[in-house]
Amino acid sequence: MSSDSRSENRTRRAGAGGKKCPLRIGVYPGSFDPLTNGHLDIIRRASKLFDKLIVGVLVNDSKKNPLFTIEERAALIRKCIGGMPNVEVGTFSGLLVDFVKQHGAVAIVKGLRAVSDYEYELQMAALNKHIDGDIDTIFLMADVQNSFLSSSVVKELAWHGGSITGLVPKEIEQDIVDNIKKRRAEADN
Ligand code: ADP
Repeated sequence: MSSDSRSENRTRRAGAGGKKCPLRIGVYPGSFDPLTNGHLDIIRRASKLFDKLIVGVLVNDSKKNPLFTIEERAALIRKCIGGMPNVEVGTFSGLLVDFVKQHGAVAIVKGLRAVSDYEYELQMAALNKHIDGDIDTIFLMADVQNSFLSSSVVKELAWHGGSITGLVPKEIEQDIVDNIKKRRAEADN
């Protein structure tokens, strides 16, 4: 089902009485250019905290020259979430809070790797809370082994011919390597 389908059922049955309560929906936003094992770890853990988790791929105009288009990034994520039926992937531009409200979500999920992430994320969480006081931001600490990992590190490494095995999900490793090779060939011409 498309993540932006507004007619979807946003309730779940609770207990033996079968009383309906609203689905707890979370949104995990980011550029995901491309998805790394650090992102996937956050998706896996957040999917256990919510009835439904929507991974929101941001059309990020400020990040020039992305490796993958937004639709390609979303497709790569979909290739990796096969075992997580309560995870969906959507794309958005504009305000994150609008995307969150549009999907009836109650929280934004963010991953924190280091103190350097903290200041920016604190500012964004406060801003989003200012825009809509009902929406909270939940932070999950990065797994120690992913604490150095970012999409930029993966791209840099692959660009210079280094191995990205173990840094990105194996389902999409070849897609990333192939795209980088294509970009390098274009740059050399
Ligand atoms: P990046 O280019 O740094 O990977 P994204 O915008 O794609 O940036 O990141 C989306 C979200 O995932 C952010 O909340 C970010 O802090 C988090 N994140 C990125 N990399 C990791 C990682 N290795 N471990 C945990 N969280 C991460």
